[in-house]
Formats: sequence, structure tokens, C-alpha cells
Amino acid sequence: MAKSTTASPRTAPAPPADDGTVHRSVEEHSKLFRDLLLGFVKIHILYHASLEPIFGVGITTELEQHGYRLSPGTLYPLLHNLEAAGFLEREDQIVGGKIRKYYGITPLGQRALEEARAKVVDLVNEVTEVGVDPKPKSARRKPAASRSGS
Ligand SMILES: [Zn+2]
Repeated sequence: MAKSTTASPRTAPAPPADDGTVHRSVEEHSKLFRDLLLGFVKIHILYHASLEPIFGVGITTELEQHGYRLSPGTLYPLLHNLEAAGFLEREDQIVGGKIRKYYGITPLGQRALEEARAKVVDLVNEVTEVGVDPKPKSARRKPAASRSGS
């Protein structure tokens, strides 16, 4: 009368779930979420470059304070892309006997930042649901049935 209680259905160890509780570096996120974060990172970069020229290590430290952990392998291509797009311009300076690459914002980058800033405000208002929408949604109400005559 040996009760066989061998095969429990829950023997498989749970995989390290993406439970969102671990603070991951940007590189450890899924591609989609990573792209999303990198959009925020680019806005941070443009903003700080608009205040004063930035350099790699400095902006890395700044971004860490906001909870973004970027490896140099992610950050430097990002800076190069922003430079190639004409949003940033590079200026090499000698610091402590070494060349340090500084990036300042261009007029084109400044315009991109202004546009992004407006979109950020709009986005924050919507997703936090605390903002005041100057244009009530009821003003552009549509009829419930958009298809007719099928
Ligand atoms: Zn910042």
C-alpha cells in the first residue's frame, strides 16, 4: 500500500521571471522596452546638452541618478547617432592630458528638444491622469458605430 506521491506537477523550477521588481540595466530589458527607455534617455541627453556640453562619463552618472543604467556600448553609439543626426556637435577638449569628447546641442537639436518637451508634457498629463486637458475629449466625440452597411 505504498502511496505513490512522486510526480508532483510543480517540479519544474520557475524561470527567472520578468517580474519587474529587479532594477535592470537598460541592456537587460526586452528589445521593445529597451527602445522605449532609450527614447527617454535621448531626451535626457538633449536636455542636458542644452544646459552645457556633456561628456560620456558625466552623462552616464547623471542618467544613473534617474535610474537608467547604460553601458558605454550603448551610450556612445547613441551620442554618435545624435551627432550624425545633427542634434549634437562634438568638441574635443584636453582634460588632464587626455582628449575628452564633449557634445553640445545644435540649433536643430534645440528644436527637437522643444518639440519633445511639449510631447513629454502632454504624455505626462495623460499617463499620470493628473493633468488638465484643455480640449475635452467629448468635443470630438465620434458615433459608436464607425462601420455602416455591412
Ligand atoms: Zn537628466
